[in-house]
Amino acid sequence: MNNHKHGSLGTKLTVAFSALGLGPLILMGAVALLVVSVTQRQAVATIETGLLGQKVEEIDKFIKETSGIFEIRVGYEETSIISQADQGFLLDGLLEENKFIVEVALVDLTGEERSKKSAVQDATKIQLLNIGSLSQFKEAKEGRTYFGPVYYTLRGPMMTLASPVFNKNNQVIMVLTGEIALASLQDFIVSARLGKSGYIFLVDKDGTVIASPDKNFIYTNVGPSPWIKDLLQGRAHNGLDREDERQGFFFKTNVLSAGLPIEKLGWGIVAEWPGDDAFAVVSTIQKQVLGFALATVLLVGLSGWLVGRLILRPLAVLREGAGKIGGGNFDHKIAITTRDEIEELGEVFNRMGEDLKKLEELRAIQIRAEALAESLKKEKELSESKSAFLGNASHQFRTPISVINWATELIMGESPQKKLGDMKEILPGLYENSQKLSLIVNDMLLISELGIGYHKSKLEKVDLVALLNKILENYKSVVEGKKINLNLSLPQSLEMMGESGPLGHAFQNLIDNAIGYTKEGGEISVDLTQGEKEAKFSVKDNGIGITESDKTRIFEQFFRATNSVEAKNVGTGLGLFIVKTVVDGHDGKVWFESEEKKGSTFYISLPLS
Ligand code: ADP
Repeated sequence: MNNHKHGSLGTKLTVAFSALGLGPLILMGAVALLVVSVTQRQAVATIETGLLGQKVEEIDKFIKETSGIFEIRVGYEETSIISQADQGFLLDGLLEENKFIVEVALVDLTGEERSKKSAVQDATKIQLLNIGSLSQFKEAKEGRTYFGPVYYTLRGPMMTLASPVFNKNNQVIMVLTGEIALASLQDFIVSARLGKSGYIFLVDKDGTVIASPDKNFIYTNVGPSPWIKDLLQGRAHNGLDREDERQGFFFKTNVLSAGLPIEKLGWGIVAEWPGDDAFAVVSTIQKQVLGFALATVLLVGLSGWLVGRLILRPLAVLREGAGKIGGGNFDHKIAITTRDEIEELGEVFNRMGEDLKKLEELRAIQIRAEALAESLKKEKELSESKSAFLGNASHQFRTPISVINWATELIMGESPQKKLGDMKEILPGLYENSQKLSLIVNDMLLISELGIGYHKSKLEKVDLVALLNKILENYKSVVEGKKINLNLSLPQSLEMMGESGPLGHAFQNLIDNAIGYTKEGGEISVDLTQGEKEAKFSVKDNGIGITESDKTRIFEQFFRATNSVEAKNVGTGLGLFIVKTVVDGHDGKVWFESEEKKGSTFYISLPLS
């Protein structure tokens, strides 16, 4: 019923909505990213190897064309060398037509250079040497084209090329050597681009960089790298292997690399594409997916929260209304107009309130009816006990009245000469019965005054001690006459709220019985003490006592035990009934302990408040 619970359902809905929306999205995003990154990896490798393949072709073509230029065949069958004049003419032509040829020489089969031309050096400074011991000469003399290792000059990388010069019979008559500038290879390499920052470079068979987009890297040797060694041994790197994802040789960034060997020259060409750039697409998609996911979470969360509120507000109205109806305000009407199940629920509650109201009214009627029935029953019981009492009472009157009638008739029928002595015999019976009649009438008058079902009214402060002393005062002469030893134990005073008249009768009846049913010289103790919440009164005697069989009937109207009739002929059997009526009417208790021929103790306890 507090706000915390209220909020928690809203939070649950928001979280549930977000999870529902986000789960599939994350899954889709993850799958998409995986697919994109795998695809991209393959695309990168394909682009790299494609580019390298194209460059290999270009380089092969360049070498082929260059070596083609060096293939010279003379038109005669003799083995004599080309004439000096023709040599000069041939070499000039070569130099003029091919700008990348820096120097050419014709060598005879003993290794002597016979003519030499240079595109860069003064003709006067050119020296003719014997190159018979050099491998380019030896190779070409055997009839094979020789590609020398790359060497480096201020003008860039250079290579020595040597070819045999054949006569008409395919006999080698001379050797043509030349120095080729490889600067044009640089153009092939620089022009190649991979994305924004990918590049390719060319290494010779030692692993030295001979062409690269960054001039600073040229002549750097990357030969020790196992990856390069593999390549120079003729193994291509397709760009998809784990080792192809490595650190770049020049920039310390991760690159996706591929490499192809250039078999004819023992060189290799390498592509390096920095990962950041190669996977830029992937990371862009990654960011987009993330952004999209975030936006979705916000949107879904917001709608979850909204839906939560839409449901929770009417629920709160429902809860409050249900609380009011449950608390007994059946007229309360729950007003929800959401046109859904909650509204229906509200109407159900309203109908329930109406039903409960009807039920409540029915219950009130039932309670009134029950109360009426109860009071009617009590009234009936009361009137029954009243008529029973009346029946008993009239029965009690019968004996003394018939005795009195008989005696009076007797007296009236007797002649005046009848002896006074005879009259004296009749008179005590007459007196005793009229006495008895008077006692019964007195007790009945008292009972009728109290009423059957008596309860104290007209409350006043009663000092029980003063009340008892007054009663005992009246019994003084009887007690003395019967030589009864009376022990009193009374406090200074003991006050309670009650009706002093009826209480006096109750005490008096108990004291009267104790004196009446105790023989001469007996002992009686009257005790009054104040308890915590009640006044305790007791009268103890050592008189005739009550037999076991009579004990249950002692408080009945008009009951008198057999032994009591002998002890005290005059009695009504109403005394204890009056005591019980008065004590009950004061919400107190009366009880007794007794043993036949030994004595009885009667107790009364009365609540003080
Ligand atoms: P009663 O007018 O006969 O005394 P009560 O109603 O006062 O009528 O007493 C009913 C009966 O209870 C008595 O008749 C008697 O048998 C017995 N009873 C009452 N008080 C005593 C007592 N102190 N000792 C012995 N019997 C008693």
